[in-house]
Amino acid sequence: MEENVQIGEFDLIDWIRRQEPDRAVDSWTRVGIGDDCAILGVGEGTGAGADLLVTTDMLMDGRHFRLDTDGPEAVGYKAMAVNLSDIAAMAGIPRAAVVAVALPRSKAVDIARGLHAGMRELADRMSVDLVGGDTNAWDGPLVITITVLGQGTVRGPVRRSGARPGDVILVTGPLGGSLAAGRHLRPEPRIHEALALHRAADIHAMIDLSDGLSSDLPHILDESGGLGAILDASSIPIHPDAHEQARRDGASAFDHALNDGEDFELCLTVAPDIAAKLLAYPPEPARLYRIGEIVEAPGLLVRTPDGRLAPLAKGGFDHLRGRSA
Ligand code: ADP
Ligand code: MG
Repeated sequence: MEENVQIGEFDLIDWIRRQEPDRAVDSWTRVGIGDDCAILGVGEGTGAGADLLVTTDMLMDGRHFRLDTDGPEAVGYKAMAVNLSDIAAMAGIPRAAVVAVALPRSKAVDIARGLHAGMRELADRMSVDLVGGDTNAWDGPLVITITVLGQGTVRGPVRRSGARPGDVILVTGPLGGSLAAGRHLRPEPRIHEALALHRAADIHAMIDLSDGLSSDLPHILDESGGLGAILDASSIPIHPDAHEQARRDGASAFDHALNDGEDFELCLTVAPDIAAKLLAYPPEPARLYRIGEIVEAPGLLVRTPDGRLAPLAKGGFDHLRGRSA
């Protein structure tokens, strides 16, 4: 497969998006491909909690986890967490999940039970019902796909597309090095943080950081009509794990914070006066860090401590190329 891949993951998704025909007048689809969740209008009218959010993510042994060393509970937890993170990115309330698994035949039942225990932990904590799925066994490695359904709040889902020039860019936690100590297996989906922020403020745009800041922030910029961003190098919160990763591989901790994936923190943009209020009084349980601002001119720039501006390449993870983009 690898050598046949001429285009990146996001080019392929763009292509699929362009193939979609115009929607029927009675279509449920309010937002299709291109955000963290699709938004379906299933109730009468719009808003008022009638928006159904849908998101799905697949995890594969050898790519997103290692079953033999991580164990099935950790895999179940991670599979649920990464899906809930996409609901958080829309400031939604998770409601139900369906789970499809391809189990390695030799230990199918033990693995299935372990997966369930891991999923249940998070499902209990976030009040998510497990309402269905599909179970298969084969001679291949474990693959698990979870689809989570959620509800937009009365304030409506937060899209990637609402950023405006002058907005302040915030993240909900320190970034980088999630692989170093296995943190990528135990992400905390920022559901409660997103709901608290959405209640407290008008969030213009939001995304969860799954592929890395330098890859995911451009989705906000592109979906918001081709804007740009200036990141302040000295204010990017760097996770201690990014320093550990840097010690191991010689890259800088800053590069890890910008480019590593699987932090599953939220990145959001708000008007400057709102940002000042949120930073002074972060709504519980959210933590907030100001990392830069949205600008009119397209592109991603980094402002170094001496005030110089340098362009930043997209460096997060591309699933088709199998390496940092
Ligand atoms: P996320 O990292 O938030 O899960 P992705 O980068 O995986 O989002 O996907 C970006 C957008 O493309 C999402 O709206 C997703 O639903 C959509 N998407 C991804 N793969 C496909 C596919 N094979 N067919 C249709 N839509 C897809
Ligand atoms: Mg996402």
